[in-house]
Amino acid sequence: MSDCLFCKIIAGEIPSKKLYEDDEFYSFFDINPQAPVHFLIIPKKHITSVMDMTEADASILGRMLYRAQILAKAEGLEEGGARFVFNCKADAGQTVWHIHLHVLGGRQFGWPPG
Ligand code: 5GP
Ligand code: ZN
Repeated sequence: MSDCLFCKIIAGEIPSKKLYEDDEFYSFFDINPQAPVHFLIIPKKHITSVMDMTEADASILGRMLYRAQILAKAEGLEEGGARFVFNCKADAGQTVWHIHLHVLGGRQFGWPPG
């Protein structure tokens, strides 16, 4: 999608600190990290939010979560654990309208979220 920030990051039109890329996914460090480790993983297919996914997208997002936990382990989060977060639409604080999974770790998180 031409006016989407994350589609532009995938295309290399906007620079990012890349963590991982394959045919289906792109992963990069968040520009405003909320933890010692904070990266995002996104599908190259433009999906607007969790609530916009189709049944066909389910397998993509399953593979995305699988890749995310491999990357989390590579970033040293296996022992302490991590937050795997989708913010979906306005009430949850979604600000970029291309589905993205946040992976945060390296510190203790509270519950419930604020
Ligand atoms: P949301 O609030 O939509 O769940 O998360 C969007 C995330 O994207 C935020 O954590 C924000 O810091 C990050 N972000 C926004 N613009 C950029 C950018 O240009 N580059 C990178 N690396 N992260 C971005
Ligand atoms: Zn997009």
